[in-house]
Amino acid sequence: MAKIGFIGLGNMGLPMALNLIKGGHRVAGIDLNAEAVARLKEGGGEAGKDAAALAMDSDVIVTMLPAGKQVREIYLGVDGIIAKSKPGTLLIDSSTIDVESARAVAAEAEKNGVLMVDAPVSGGVGGAQGGTLTFMVGGSDKSFEKAKPILELMGKTIVHAGAAGAGQAAKICNNMILGISMIAVSEAFVLAEKLGLDKQKLFDISSKSSGQCWSMTTYCPVPGPVPTSPANRDYAAGFTAAMMLKDLKLSQDASASSGAKTPMGAAATKLYEIYAESGESGRDFSGIIQFIRNA
Ligand code: NAD
Repeated sequence: MAKIGFIGLGNMGLPMALNLIKGGHRVAGIDLNAEAVARLKEGGGEAGKDAAALAMDSDVIVTMLPAGKQVREIYLGVDGIIAKSKPGTLLIDSSTIDVESARAVAAEAEKNGVLMVDAPVSGGVGGAQGGTLTFMVGGSDKSFEKAKPILELMGKTIVHAGAAGAGQAAKICNNMILGISMIAVSEAFVLAEKLGLDKQKLFDISSKSSGQCWSMTTYCPVPGPVPTSPANRDYAAGFTAAMMLKDLKLSQDASASSGAKTPMGAAATKLYEIYAESGESGRDFSGIIQFIRNA
């Protein structure tokens, strides 16, 4: 049994922390939201005092925070968890953040002799609750091997993507594909409507043809063909348009800093920006089909 500190008990973090408790570990958590900490306690966890105290008293720290800004605040500085960790502590950041912040924090951890991985996830709240997340992990072989048994309690697929920051790079590239492909599939259904082609027929054909992709077969943006997709419940999220926009913006920041050309990624970012700002930021990202249909 390890002593695990968990920082960030939001929609994703709380169910992940509860799975670590189910896996037999002692988990103490903190969050700006006292209600989230109370729910961790109800599930058998403990309330931590603050990040520094957690770092001094934990074998492993997992963070699940909104963005790079919060990760830098929690990890860096004299009271940050890197400075306060005991030798041999493992730090796992599962937040989705910019590659630059991930590499900066990892470099500081290495300088201080602390093991660290960036381990962003895909699979959403359902995956967090069911312990079926996919983890994309960046860090040394030694850090990865130490993190793997902890990540296996929260996820089903654990991939070592490469050195520090590679997990975030994989996440950003994957979600840029997702944002673009959801728009492509939505445009195809809108065109089919105009051409008088039945949506089920398009699905039956494209799901078995070269148009096949996750946005078509698992998360189909029209109601009917895939009964579990958010389209069947008025696009209740799932994965919100705001989160898709956040990840697309990270992809565009990374494109700019690395010199990669991603014109479709740029177009998808623009469309999701307009969609989210039209009052739909909390709706599922597949709801963009309604915006495309009415544009
Ligand atoms: P969330 O907003 O529900 O949770 C974030 C939590 O962090 C909140 O409870 C907040 O109070 C807490 N927090 C913020 N600053 C803090 C601080 N300084 N100290 C302690 N707690 C602090 O967000 P979420 O949906 O759980 O997402 C977390 C991360 O996971 C994000 O980076 C997101 O992009 C990523 N992600 C989310 C999903 C999803 O479907 N929700 C899927 C994949 C990845």
